[in-house]
Amino acid sequence: MTNDAETRQEPRAAPAQDPAPTSAPPLRSADIVIIGSGMGGGTLAYALRDLGARVLVLERGDYLPQEPQNWDPWAVFRDKRYKPRELWRDGDGRLYRPGVYYWVGGNTKMFGAALTRFRREDFGALAHHDGESPAWPLTYDELEAYYCTAEDLYRVHGHLGGDPTEPPHSRDYPYPPLPHEPAIRALSARLSDQGLHPFHLPMGIDYRPGGTCV
Ligand SMILES: Cc1cc2nc3c(=O)[nH]c(=O)nc-3n(C[C@H](O)[C@H](O)[C@H](O)COP(=O)(O)OP(=O)(O)OC[C@H]3O[C@@H](n4cnc5c(N)ncnc54)[C@H](O)[C@@H]3O)c2cc1C
Repeated sequence: MTNDAETRQEPRAAPAQDPAPTSAPPLRSADIVIIGSGMGGGTLAYALRDLGARVLVLERGDYLPQEPQNWDPWAVFRDKRYKPRELWRDGDGRLYRPGVYYWVGGNTKMFGAALTRFRREDFGALAHHDGESPAWPLTYDELEAYYCTAEDLYRVHGHLGGDPTEPPHSRDYPYPPLPHEPAIRALSARLSDQGLHPFHLPMGIDYRPGGTCV
């Protein structure tokens, strides 16, 4: 992160975050402290909920305000209303606006909710254009059951068998795929007619009747 002077170069105001503390916060103790309430920290806290340990989630951001601009792509993407007003430096020292969000829920407050699994070969050593990705100490097969648990938790809507690159699943997604918009349905049909394999992205949204996603 950069110093205050660089931070102030950002022109537009986002909702207030990280206000200066007015008094010392109360002392708390915990058995396990999780820093950050994003997809990683939030999921870990949920998994630990019945352990009997006192789990504290430390989150620097506030709750994202629910307001009309949540649904306004100009406010979200052009004006970057919900991004922190800070600049980072890349490896060459150039300043850039990082793609992060500091809110309870972390980046998941803004993410696209496409919850694809890693491929089996992603867990081994992989040569990429920019270098080699070393092998994980875990294999896909060891994690497969946990993917199923996570897909239940995140109510993933998808269809097994549509994506020819998908790794083996021990069972289908817990919810059916989201219906295509008419234009996408037509495009998908045209691609299939050419022998291609368009498929529904697995989406982690609460699309059930009475669900919480709009
Ligand atoms: C616009 C966008 C779209 C995306 N779409 C997808 C998608 O469709 N599918 C997908 O799989 N991924 C997507 N991603 C990526 C995905 O959102 C992230 O990989 C994922 O949310 C990272 O989770 P995380 O818990 O590691 O970190 P984050 O979600 O970044 O959470 C980190 C949390 O830690 C907090 N924090 C940071 N520093 C401190 C500190 N010092 N003290 C206390 N708290 C701190 C932050 O405020 C934040 O809440 C998208 C990301 C963006 C930005």
